[in-house]
Amino acid sequence: MIPADIISKKRDGRALSKNELNYFIKEYLSGSITDSQMSALLMAIYFKGMSDRETFVLLDVMLQSGSILNFENSKEYIADKHSTGGIGDKVSLILAPLMAAGGLKIPMIAGRGLGFTGGTVDKIESIPNINTNPSMEVFKDWIIKNRCAIVVQSNKIAPADKKIYSLRNLTGTVPSLPLICSSILSKKIAEGIQGLVMDIKIGNGAFLKTKKDAISLGRLITNIGTFYDIKTNIVFSSMDQPLGRFAGLACEVTEALECLNGNGPNDTMRITFELGSHLFLQAGIVNDKNAALKKMQALIDSKKALKYFKSMVKLQGGQLDDFKNITKPKYEQLVHSNKSGIINFMDTEKIGWALLDLGCGYKKPDDKLDYTAGIEFYKKVGDEVKYNDPLYRVFNSDLIRLEKVSQLLLDTFNIGNKGKPLELIL
Ligand code: URA
Repeated sequence: MIPADIISKKRDGRALSKNELNYFIKEYLSGSITDSQMSALLMAIYFKGMSDRETFVLLDVMLQSGSILNFENSKEYIADKHSTGGIGDKVSLILAPLMAAGGLKIPMIAGRGLGFTGGTVDKIESIPNINTNPSMEVFKDWIIKNRCAIVVQSNKIAPADKKIYSLRNLTGTVPSLPLICSSILSKKIAEGIQGLVMDIKIGNGAFLKTKKDAISLGRLITNIGTFYDIKTNIVFSSMDQPLGRFAGLACEVTEALECLNGNGPNDTMRITFELGSHLFLQAGIVNDKNAALKKMQALIDSKKALKYFKSMVKLQGGQLDDFKNITKPKYEQLVHSNKSGIINFMDTEKIGWALLDLGCGYKKPDDKLDYTAGIEFYKKVGDEVKYNDPLYRVFNSDLIRLEKVSQLLLDTFNIGNKGKPLELIL
């Protein structure tokens, strides 16, 4: 087969066969198909799309590129949650230990920052010495010992997604329905899970900007999940403003710890509990949503979920002692409102790109992240503000970047005469 011929076929809008996709992915992983050829194919897929059948084949080829975890005869229900990505979305850091505390196994394979959205792995790697790239055996051992762990795609687990994910990040090919679907499910199915809950984000800070696209993705994920015998639920949530009080790296881990300590912001706890209730119901450990919500609150109040977070970090080699001090930013600046009124719009995607500029994401694959970087949001959509009120606190450890980003952020909100708080669960 000839790579350029396969690229041209997709460029012209024709469907690729299983053999062609298998060849392309295999040769890309072995290095004989180059990054530029894969970038061209990804761009062709971005523009021409894929049928459901092709997406399914792509996903299966990506899945078969690595090993699939197998927890033989597990007494506990094995499940996971994934989000299509957003700004300030630290829910995985809270939900994994919360579900483990409730008796589920959560072998979470997460990703790094993608496009303008933050990555769970980058966030958790702000914890000194934490290992997110264990062997299959060690990962499995962590799950058996502690019921939850958070790791990144590797050369053994979801290797095709590992390589394609970082290339998509550099080539503007992230917001493509078949690429998102195959990326997410090739990781999740490799975890050997029985259940999945998906948080599909919709809005100006999401990859999917319309309900129509979000519903198509939800339908496809549910169908493919069912095919692989995975109970699948979908939650649609708004990403028309950042989630929680903070977006960034270490600051999101600190906020997740606050959530596990019972002091989480309403929006973050609401979506966490919404997603968690689906998993508790799937596992059959509660009979209705109310019982699930009560159970989750009890696991937070008793600090049992927090205990699982701490033991997860410890098992993975991380050190949380003095975490807040170690990750303290050197610099901070306030961004003020330019008039009085009500906030009626936040440009969440632009806030996401600003976070990248601040040091929270990758412009090149080997960029060094600034774990101290982030933004605190004092106000959200629907809040009344007066002229010169502080809206954001921006912080990092690189003054030049900080000043540039503070300027950019002046262009990320609109203040008018009217506006109301946004619905979170759609
Ligand atoms: N999360 C993923 O793992 N992949 C995507 O493409 C988008 C969100």
